[in-house]
Amino acid sequence: MPSIDALIDRIDQYLEPDKVALVRQAYESAKTAHEGQFRRSGDPYIIHPVAVARILADLQMDHQTLMAALLHDVIEDTDVSKEDLAADFGESVAELVDGVSKLTQIEFKSKAEAQAHNFQKMTLAMAKDIRVILVKLADRLHNMRTLGPLHHEKRRRIATETLDIYAPIANRLGINSIRIELEDLGFAALYPMRSKYIRKAVKKLRGNHNEIIEDIQHSLEKCLEQRNLEGHIIGREKHLFSIYNKMKYKHKSFHEIMDVYAFRVITKNEEDCYRALGAVHSAYKPLPFRFKDYIAVPKVNGYQSLHTTLFGKHVNIEIQIRTDDMEDFANYGIAAHWQYKDDSSMTLANQARIDRWLSSLKQIRDHADDSMEFIEHVKIELFPDEIYVFTPKGDILELPAGATPIDFAYSIHTDIGNACVACRINKKLASLSEPLQSGQTVEVITAPGAKPSRAWLNIAVSAKAKSSIRHYLKQRSEAESLDLGKALIEKSLSSIKKSWKDIGEEHLAKVLEHNQADSLDELFINVGLGNRMPYIIARQLIANSGMEIDAEQATSDDKQHLMIKGTEGLNLSFAKCCHPIPGDPIIGIATGPSGLVIHSEGCRKAMDKLQNRAKIHLSWVKDITDEFVVELRVELERQRGIIAELASAITRAEANIERIGVEEQNARMSVVNVVIHIQGRRHLARVIKRIRSLKAVIRLNRVVDTHPKNGA
Ligand code: MN
Repeated sequence: MPSIDALIDRIDQYLEPDKVALVRQAYESAKTAHEGQFRRSGDPYIIHPVAVARILADLQMDHQTLMAALLHDVIEDTDVSKEDLAADFGESVAELVDGVSKLTQIEFKSKAEAQAHNFQKMTLAMAKDIRVILVKLADRLHNMRTLGPLHHEKRRRIATETLDIYAPIANRLGINSIRIELEDLGFAALYPMRSKYIRKAVKKLRGNHNEIIEDIQHSLEKCLEQRNLEGHIIGREKHLFSIYNKMKYKHKSFHEIMDVYAFRVITKNEEDCYRALGAVHSAYKPLPFRFKDYIAVPKVNGYQSLHTTLFGKHVNIEIQIRTDDMEDFANYGIAAHWQYKDDSSMTLANQARIDRWLSSLKQIRDHADDSMEFIEHVKIELFPDEIYVFTPKGDILELPAGATPIDFAYSIHTDIGNACVACRINKKLASLSEPLQSGQTVEVITAPGAKPSRAWLNIAVSAKAKSSIRHYLKQRSEAESLDLGKALIEKSLSSIKKSWKDIGEEHLAKVLEHNQADSLDELFINVGLGNRMPYIIARQLIANSGMEIDAEQATSDDKQHLMIKGTEGLNLSFAKCCHPIPGDPIIGIATGPSGLVIHSEGCRKAMDKLQNRAKIHLSWVKDITDEFVVELRVELERQRGIIAELASAITRAEANIERIGVEEQNARMSVVNVVIHIQGRRHLARVIKRIRSLKAVIRLNRVVDTHPKNGA
């Protein structure tokens, strides 16, 4: 049974006394927190974190990792909060424990193999500090060692997850000592009969083959001696899971696999590796095409060694040749480079060590053919640029870091992106602009007839979402600019009591040329886009000679209202600050790229914007049947299901919800922001009445940014 004294003895060997004292403090704190909790086996719970810390102490990890290991379950299983940990043990330890808890909360559903790879990437993406992964691996290792008392189903689930996710991660990080044990334990839990059979067969064979093994070992030792090579030779055992996999995937019989004898030669330095290779090749004939130089070209996880296979008398002999350092790395991988070395600022020192490790790997790989692929690999593994989120069905989507629900929606399908109006993150309503985090479950809510908005271009980060939104906007934009430009010019003409029939063809051509337009349509588009002022064009069109018309004068003349329906399209947009609806007094401001923007009269933002721009007087046509956007701010008493109630009240008043999001929340109340589609002032009044009838509603405002005297 793992004891704290044994742990302290172990870390005394490599940590300074003050660091050892900190680890002991973390132990005392964890012990108090888990007081009265027991494992399924009946042991006090604290046994588990001590064992996890012990696994990491054997990898000679730093004191912060050990403290986090001792405390790794307190956030999840006790009253202790992340803030408590930060206050007692510092920010780093608190972050590590929090990271481990987040990994624990993710439920890995058993999925196809392709998904397993995504799960691995998600796990790495969620751990901002690689030490989080090391604690999680040690946690998993101890849980696998003590699976016994658990339910059959739970055992299978944990074992599957171990083989699909954690053993491959240990392999990626090069930590073979943990990887091999996880694999054998996972294999035994999942396939107890097969594992038992192979174990028995191996044991029997080992007895029979002892003589041969000693014989080969002796002759290998002799051939090193003859060449004055320092080094030692170790006989190797294949582990059960690798034997099983070779039988299953390489279709080899048990005896084919076991008739191969495996040895490892450990040398003093790299040069001796190659000399030792020459030595064994002269003692036994090498098998063609079986030699691999992983020293010159390491494996993607940094593993280095020479591999060769020799003809024995009747058997094959597999040989690995490597230095002490390479051996260390093969066993402990990234942890070997993390081991505690000095007492100055551990985190920085560790970070520097990891950086050195990465850059040394890069150097090695720069000479290899597939170096790019390698660097890409390491980067994705350790410093991911991507996030990984779940769909409601449990599939995993990969998105660029900073991605929002809009990106998520477009990555599922363009039509879903175009029609999305709201979303849920981990089942809670959230804003479409909220950056997503790895591990979250995201659900998109769509509405028929919903359209992407120009503002989404600032919210989306993925190329796919951006190009889909742009494509949509561009398609709509040209047609609508044309219609709007034409309407604006015709209105300006009629305000000076003129029409198209008053304009000669020759003169029209001159006006087009003057405005650098190839066609009348192009001129309309330019006016619609706000690049040209409609009243100036109108005056040019009716002028008998000369094109100079004073803009100031034109503006002041232009008092007659343009009638609008609000359905003119993208180039006539409603200001987001005041969301005017039919019935509100309105004005228009031509703003260049976004066309004519309609504000409520007296809107504060509109006043600011007016400075150098022309104000266009507008009125609503009667009998509007189209939909308009209104933003409401609702303060609600906090109660279960209240957002859904609010949404259904709005729907019952026949208004569509474009967006609903929680703006603020405390224990008593929530402030909800909702953007809805309504048909005018009277419809809005109906909606507001419905909402007010909800008991939980404390206050309700229409969000309009106007001068106080014009306040809505
Ligand atoms: Mn645990």
